Amino acid sequence: MNIAAGVLFRYKILKYIDIYAGLAILIQGHNVTCPHCWESINVTLDLSVPQQSYIEDCPVCCKPMIVSYSASNGEVDELQVEASD
Ligand SMILES: [Zn+2]
Repeated sequence: MNIAAGVLFRYKILKYIDIYAGLAILIQGHNVTCPHCWESINVTLDLSVPQQSYIEDCPVCCKPMIVSYSASNGEVDELQVEASD
């Protein structure tokens, strides 16, 4: 399988999930940059809550960060990560 086919395959899988699960899939992982160590990390968002702000520890440097997001129709509109003191 070449790279293009791999991307297409993945796209089809995502489309499949999209079409058949629809709005049921509201738990999504999103990549953000840690405001402390600048590592790229993955945060899990529960999009059944349209707007939320909470403190989560960075899995790399263990420092707290404020994750805030707003979502509509199972899609993230805004996602922000700030340093928390
Ligand atoms: Zn960090």
